[in-house]
Amino acid sequence: MRLPVLLDEVRACRVCERALPLGPRPLVQLGSSARVLIIGQAPGRVAHETGVPWSDRSGDRLREWMGVERRVFYDPGSVALMPMGFCYPGPGPSGDLPPRPECAPFWHDRLRRLLPDVSLTILVGRFAYERYLAEQFDSLTVAVRSGPALLPTRIALPHPSPRNNLWLRRNPWFEARALPALRAAVSSALGATPSPRIPAPRTAPSPRAPRRSG
Ligand code: SF4
Repeated sequence: MRLPVLLDEVRACRVCERALPLGPRPLVQLGSSARVLIIGQAPGRVAHETGVPWSDRSGDRLREWMGVERRVFYDPGSVALMPMGFCYPGPGPSGDLPPRPECAPFWHDRLRRLLPDVSLTILVGRFAYERYLAEQFDSLTVAVRSGPALLPTRIALPHPSPRNNLWLRRNPWFEARALPALRAAVSSALGATPSPRIPAPRTAPSPRAPRRSG
């Protein structure tokens, strides 16, 4: 199947419609020549309303961490955006609800197969960690700290939400060592020959509630 055809199916998806308080509005950015794939959590309410993922302060910080401008970030031929849940899941008791658990198992593998040039996958936040890295690392913090062991094909990040400022203050090594490694990997991927893709996941996302969008 070609990517545009599958994207049409994504945009028409109603798999978990009944659980979405504002209804389905899948937000992905996928181009068949993308070199960097960002797997975040789920759109927040603003992204749902504007149709632009990562258009908030979390997105600003993520772009700063990556060392890319909006022009590059929103170029589907360079960067693919595929969250753990494609639609806004609604508000929870503290922050938004988790990404819908149906979404990543339903879509991720099929979409990733149509992104043959992705050489770097950036796994952002706990839900991406749980699906793609939990078998290797005991926690998201351990996965982030082990960044060099994952590169050049993958890297894990905490969610860039301002809600994570305390984590950032408690882990100064992240800014000192992980961010330079991230920027170098992004720069290399955006100009480099594609390298092996990440292995298929073996774990499912947990139902715990996130506090962030993206
Ligand atoms: S969250 Fe995912 S599975 Fe649910 S309706 Fe949106 S695209 Fe479909």
